[in-house]
Amino acid sequence: MEYRQLGKTGMNVSVLSYGASSLGSVFRRVTEAEGIAAVHAALDLGINFIDVSPFYGLTVAETVLGKALKSIPRDSYYLATKVGRYGYKMEDFDFSAERVTASVDESLARLGVDYVDIIQCHDIEFGNLDQIVEETIPALRKLQQQGKVRFVGITGLPLKVFTYVADRVEIDTILSYCRYELNDTALVDLVPYFQQKNIGIINASPLGMGLLTQRGAPDWHPISAEARQICAKAAEHCAGKGVDIAQLALQFSLANPDFATTLIGTASAANVQKNVQWMEAPMDEQLLAEVLEILAPIHNQTWVSGRPENN
Ligand code: NAD
Repeated sequence: MEYRQLGKTGMNVSVLSYGASSLGSVFRRVTEAEGIAAVHAALDLGINFIDVSPFYGLTVAETVLGKALKSIPRDSYYLATKVGRYGYKMEDFDFSAERVTASVDESLARLGVDYVDIIQCHDIEFGNLDQIVEETIPALRKLQQQGKVRFVGITGLPLKVFTYVADRVEIDTILSYCRYELNDTALVDLVPYFQQKNIGIINASPLGMGLLTQRGAPDWHPISAEARQICAKAAEHCAGKGVDIAQLALQFSLANPDFATTLIGTASAANVQKNVQWMEAPMDEQLLAEVLEILAPIHNQTWVSGRPENN
């Protein structure tokens, strides 16, 4: 496993990292034992960075992850969780200082740890960005002084929310998802900006939240029907060549050295093992070119997330 520095944090994170949203049964029904085995498989293979949120499975993912981490020395992995998002609707977001402060204590209790390495404001495009700058991040900095969190980051889909916040307040990391994968590479445009500020870049969802798998995206996936159809065509093309599109998708995202780490989610230990093997295998450049051509009509097609003014 290769490790990289995450911005200015001093964290030396594995290039492939573990996204724990699957532990909350967001893609399919998952048993606790299955989820715990997947976390242990990831750690055994050298993955040292785990990302979760109280939102995933409405606290279930954090609870299952806490059980998995019970037997693991705290200094052998980095842990990130989030604040501000507690459900699917607009009214389920709360970035107030009071709520996020309580939220961190709730997460620490579920996770069974004394601190998290990164606390991230979850999907800030659903909030008022000025509140994030003036109230939420200062509240999280207070928790940093108390030793409950080591670093502070932000997450979201529309890329402009990152620069709006980072122009106004110091942040340590950003987590971007679905903006650097086979069908969307928009995140690269912001790399120089983040590098100049020494902000650590966490790239999430290299499989496009299931879009770039043989199973296809779950029903709740917000991308267009056209994009689903074209991605299914690309998956079929790969299958015809004896390759799982998930392999190519993972290799494509991991081939970019500008991201400290790429978060992939799965609650299957076998898939964790497969992902590490795929990461180490050479990428089929010819197949990549063919797939990029199939996906060209939907390149950088994304969806509106959160408040219209934040898109
Ligand atoms: P992903 O692109 O990693 O895709 C996950 C899907 O791919 C799941 O259905 C999983 O079963 C499947 N998969 C994984 N390995 C596979 C394999 N080897 N073969 C076939 N299928 C495989 O999307 P994700 O899980 O949403 O993203 C990864 C992580 O990034 C999340 O768990 C979360 O921690 C983080 N994330 C954060 C945000 C945010 O903060 N707003 C958003 C998205 C993701």
